[in-house]
Amino acid sequence: MGNVPGKLENENAVRFNRSLSTSSALPSSRTISGGPNGSRKTRTSSMVGNILTAGRRSESSESLSGANPYKRKSTKEKERLKERHVKDLTVKYQETVDGGFLAPYGSSSLEKVDYDASVVKSLIVERRLAPFYAPLQDFDESWSREELIKIVDGLPLHAPFNEDLEAFDGVPIGDLSQSDFEYLIDKSLSRREQRRQRSKIFNARLYQKRILWQERENEKFLETKLEAKRAVDGQRFSSLPSGDLKFDLYRTGAECPICFLYYPQPLNVSRCCLQLICSECFVQIKRAEPHFPHDQDDSSTPADDSERDPNLLTSEPTNCPYCATPDFGITYQPVVTRRVGLQGSVPLTYKHVTDSEDPEQKEATRRGSLAASDRQVVTSDSLRPDWQIKLNKERMRLARRSANATAIHVSHQLVAPSHQESSSLRSHTTSRSPPHPEPINRAEVNTGRWPSTATAAEIENEMIEQAIKLSLAESNPTK
Ligand SMILES: [Zn+2]
Ligand SMILES: [Zn+2]
Repeated sequence: MGNVPGKLENENAVRFNRSLSTSSALPSSRTISGGPNGSRKTRTSSMVGNILTAGRRSESSESLSGANPYKRKSTKEKERLKERHVKDLTVKYQETVDGGFLAPYGSSSLEKVDYDASVVKSLIVERRLAPFYAPLQDFDESWSREELIKIVDGLPLHAPFNEDLEAFDGVPIGDLSQSDFEYLIDKSLSRREQRRQRSKIFNARLYQKRILWQERENEKFLETKLEAKRAVDGQRFSSLPSGDLKFDLYRTGAECPICFLYYPQPLNVSRCCLQLICSECFVQIKRAEPHFPHDQDDSSTPADDSERDPNLLTSEPTNCPYCATPDFGITYQPVVTRRVGLQGSVPLTYKHVTDSEDPEQKEATRRGSLAASDRQVVTSDSLRPDWQIKLNKERMRLARRSANATAIHVSHQLVAPSHQESSSLRSHTTSRSPPHPEPINRAEVNTGRWPSTATAAEIENEMIEQAIKLSLAESNPTK
C-alpha cells in the first residue's frame, strides 16, 4: 500500500525524500512521505495539528470513510480497516531501518498495538522513534563475534504466535481464501446475536490470516538468507544485514526496564526522566478508554451512564511509566554512522566504524528533560491521533441515547398542543441536566427546537455537526 515511505528498490524516491529532509538540520514539523509518487504531507506535532489532521490524513485509517471521521462506518468498512491495520503489523525483512523493522516483534494482542501504523512507520523511517528489533532474552559478554552473529542470524522476524487462542476456541473460520463468511453465521439467532457472532468469527479469521501473512514473510526471509549464503555475488540480497551490522547492533545493546528484553542500542529515552524504553513497550502505552471521572461524589451521580452529562466523559493523557509525569513522550537519537535501510545506505554493505563515544554515555549527557511540545519529542498521543475523535464519538453516543430517551418521552405526550409540547420538552431536558456552556450540551437542550416530526437521523445529523464544532473549538481555542 502507499503508506510505506520510499522502498529501497525505488532509489529515486529515496534520494528525493532524503534531500528534502536534510535541507534543515532540525525540521520544525514532521513530514510524512507519501511513497514513490513523492506526495508529502506536513504534520505539526502539536495537539491541534493532530486533531485537525486526524480528519484529513489521506494515508490514515479514516481515509476509506471519506473526509468526515464522525461518519458512522458500516461493519464491512470497519472490518476492511482492521484487516488493513493487521497487514501493516506484518514484519517484512526488506522494510528495514538501521537493522530494525517497521512493525513490532512480539505483540500478538491487537488491542495493545492499535496505534496508527502509518504514523509509527513514518516516525521510524524519519529516525524519530527506534525501529522494532528482535530482542534477545539474555546477552552474554563472553560471546565471540561469530557466536553472536550466529545467534542474530537465527532470530525470526516475529515471535511465534500461539496457534490456538482460548478466545477463539470453537469459533468457525471457514475458508480463509474467501472473503465472504456470511454462511458461517447462524441465521436463527437474533440480529444482535448475529452481529456478535460475526465479530467473533471475523476476529478469529483475522488472527489466522495474520499468522499466515507473517509466515509468508518469514519464509521469504529464510529463503533469501539461504540463497545469499550460496550466492557468489551478494548484490541481490542488499536488504540483508552485513556481519558487521549484526555484530555492531547487538554487541552494545541494553535491557528495556519494562519488558526486561535485550535490544540493540540506542533505545528510546523518556522525555521527562531520561529512562530507556524499547519501541515495543512505547507503542503499547496509551490513554484509557473514555470514562466518567472516578473521584466524583457518588451520592449525587446517577448509576446509569446514560443519565450523566456526556461532557463529563474524559480521557486523561498517558503518564510516564517511570516518574508518572503526564503526557508521556520519548526522544530517539539514531547512530549517525549506522543509517542503513530505508532512506539510508544498503544494509549489506555496512562496515563497522569506530565510534569513540559510548552510545549510552552520549544519551545520558545529551540533555535534560524536555517538554511534551518539544519538536524532538514523540508523545504517546501522536501515535493514536484519533483519541479526540474517539472521545467525541463516545460523548455523541451518550448524547444520542439520552436524546432518544427524550424522544420516546415526547411521543407519549403527543396529546398536548404543539407549542406546549415543545415547551414541556425543553423544561424536561433542562431539568434533567442543568444548562452548560458547552456546545454538546446545547445540542441536547436544543432537542426542544426540533419538531416532534424530526426523524432520529435528522436529530443525529444535527448532533454530529455540533460535536464537530465542539471538537474544532476545543482544539483551537484561539480562533
Ligand atoms: Zn520493552
Ligand atoms: Zn519520566
